[in-house]
Amino acid sequence: MSIRTTSSREKVLQILEQLQQEISAQELYLELRNQQKSIGLATVYRVLKSLKLEGLIQERLSPIGESFYSLITPSHLHHLNCLSCGRVVSLEDCPLSETISQWSDAQQFKIFYHTIEFFGLCSVCQAEQQ
Ligand SMILES: [Zn+2]
Ligand SMILES: [Zn+2]
Repeated sequence: MSIRTTSSREKVLQILEQLQQEISAQELYLELRNQQKSIGLATVYRVLKSLKLEGLIQERLSPIGESFYSLITPSHLHHLNCLSCGRVVSLEDCPLSETISQWSDAQQFKIFYHTIEFFGLCSVCQAEQQ
């Protein structure tokens, strides 16, 4: 009987699938430890880097310079951020998916994912300004 050992890569993917939200490398490291799937922090970074190059996960750099990782899913959200009250509205449909696939074809560039943030005023704050 052979005992199958779970690779570091599978452990990281399992956590990201469970979470369904973005996580920093440090949090991922702690989460793996909590679930008795402990791997070294250096390995966590190495695995994240290779998953990123395979187009399986995306990295978002927060305004304070910390990286957050999440699985790339076929559907993705864009956010409208209100600068005044901080309200965040999610756009379910990507307004640019068609344009992006045209660019990608024209440049022969394989685009794994994209991020766009929108900033402005929500309807409530616009009304207050008037
Ligand atoms: Zn607002
Ligand atoms: Zn999009």
